[in-house]
Amino acid sequence: MNPTTPAPHPAIRTLRHDPDVQPFIVIWEVTRACQLVCQHCRADAIHQRSPAELTAAQGRVLLDDLASFGPPHPLVVLTGGDPFERGDLEELVAYGTAQGLHISLSPSVTPRLTRSTLERLRDAGAKAVSLSLDGATAATHDGFRGIDGVYDDTLDAARMVRELGLRLQVNTTVTQGNLSELPAILRQVIALRAGLWSVFFLVPTGRGAALEALDAHETEDVLHWLHDASRLLAIKTTEAPHYRRVALQRRGGPAAPEVVGPLYRQLRDDIADLLDLGDAPARRAARPLLDVNAGKGFVFVDPVGAVYPSGFLPVPVGSVRDRPITELYREAPLLRWLRDPDRLAGRCGRCAFRQVCGGSRSRAYAMSGDPLGEDRTCSYQPAS
Ligand code: SF4
Repeated sequence: MNPTTPAPHPAIRTLRHDPDVQPFIVIWEVTRACQLVCQHCRADAIHQRSPAELTAAQGRVLLDDLASFGPPHPLVVLTGGDPFERGDLEELVAYGTAQGLHISLSPSVTPRLTRSTLERLRDAGAKAVSLSLDGATAATHDGFRGIDGVYDDTLDAARMVRELGLRLQVNTTVTQGNLSELPAILRQVIALRAGLWSVFFLVPTGRGAALEALDAHETEDVLHWLHDASRLLAIKTTEAPHYRRVALQRRGGPAAPEVVGPLYRQLRDDIADLLDLGDAPARRAARPLLDVNAGKGFVFVDPVGAVYPSGFLPVPVGSVRDRPITELYREAPLLRWLRDPDRLAGRCGRCAFRQVCGGSRSRAYAMSGDPLGEDRTCSYQPAS
């Protein structure tokens, strides 16, 4: 660790293994095909599968290589598009599971998501399923997805996932369009007994470039509100690592009045009844946040085998068709630079929290073209 950076705090979980050597989580986008047309789709999904996708045989080689990282094996999430568009999904799950990998699925809610399909995938070894919920009402959620009825189907699918004994993660993308619904979405996530709420902060890439992202002050208010809500259920953020900075600054205490604004107070008022625990312990102790970021404990593989630091940072570092992902992850220059907080520029480069936060590298790239630039949606001003 750099001597100028603070020591890890119990609010932050550091990886059990060296992020220079192996990732904690690998996202494999097995296809870009999907029947939905979500406004914020990173993948710019299409309706038909591409013949250029990795075949089942090439997928098995990739899974072998992922297993060769050794224990503790990376978590592997099969996403899309809609991974359920692949007829060989069950085979891939079973194969990866047999190699010792923990496989999770991130399907779209379409008619392909049925109880019998989920049962087969569970029996093949899948451990968890993540579903997107981007609104507290059908109007908002279905408006995002471009198809009526998906909201009700999502709630039904979430219950089905739980009934089948799979772990449930709910993913929510925050935009100006659903900001005021966050408290109601939180209530739904709790009611669905999800194991984890993953709150995604928009990166202006793919179809999401047309949506309104939060500014730095709104982002700060939401991060502090999420920190409060993490007394109620496990929460993680995607593309907002400054949530870890907030956790370190709060150290279990209240938000400093000078760093939060009216949005935070409104969101907090809307869940005051939930947060009023009296002397009772938190319903679910907040899990320490995991210290991962693009290329640092995290790596993304697209349908044709290209490897990226993240699904939102469109700079390929090589292909699994040419080199094993173990070599690419450890040796690709961009991934090595992203793991070195002393290479960061702007405010992130001067920031005492850069080791545990580092800012969203995807957003820095989307907004400035520099993957090592500052994350402009962070309101923190480091000392010069
Ligand atoms: S300035 Fe950058 S490194 Fe520091 S807290 Fe903000 S996003 Fe994180």
